Amino acid sequence: MLMEEARNKIVEFGKRMSADGLAPGTAGNISIYDPETGYMAISPSGVPYDKTLPEDVVILDLDGNVIDGDKKPSSEHGLHAVFYRTDPEARAVVHNHSMYCTILACMGEPLRSVHYALAEAQCSEIPLVPYHTFGTPELADAAAEALKKKGHGLILQNHGMCAYGPTIESAYGLALTMEWCAQVQWHCMAAGKMNVLTDEQMEVAMEHYKTYGQKKSDGSHTGGYSVV
Ligand SMILES: [Zn+2]
Repeated sequence: MLMEEARNKIVEFGKRMSADGLAPGTAGNISIYDPETGYMAISPSGVPYDKTLPEDVVILDLDGNVIDGDKKPSSEHGLHAVFYRTDPEARAVVHNHSMYCTILACMGEPLRSVHYALAEAQCSEIPLVPYHTFGTPELADAAAEALKKKGHGLILQNHGMCAYGPTIESAYGLALTMEWCAQVQWHCMAAGKMNVLTDEQMEVAMEHYKTYGQKKSDGSHTGGYSVV
């Protein structure tokens, strides 16, 4: 089966995203990219995570042409392709409508550095992408524009969030961290007081993350606040 390992991971992390409460119903989608073929494996459209099988995962090229699979791909495949086109290191993207990221999205707020844990996203603020209808090239273009800023995450206005990374584990871990940071920010905003860390303080935190956690076999570190 083409991209079998990626298909299995998409099924596994889809179930996890649902169990962790990040994706109500069939909302959200996950993709994994193979730079050698230029193909992306992505969740099917509108199939519940607990019912998704590896063969339901659709293989596309970055222009949206179906390479393998009988199901309709996620309507946001164009949005996912933007990450792989923009960052040559991107290998996996998680998109969902998790509660607190979506609250900020509906308030028209970016995700700010109220806690150092946001350094996992390699930036001091997750930008807010202006609203466009879901599944449209306009939304993908707006996301591409926002990704020109440093960082591995986006808040989509009146919609939800995206996180990406060099592995599905890192992208999913960042999605969890963003949701936790968004919850903290929302509570601070509701309480009427919020102390935002400076860019300099966040730069230091980002440096610390490079050697945080356990050293992996490839020499990098597990890093991150929510290692999965
Ligand atoms: Zn969505």
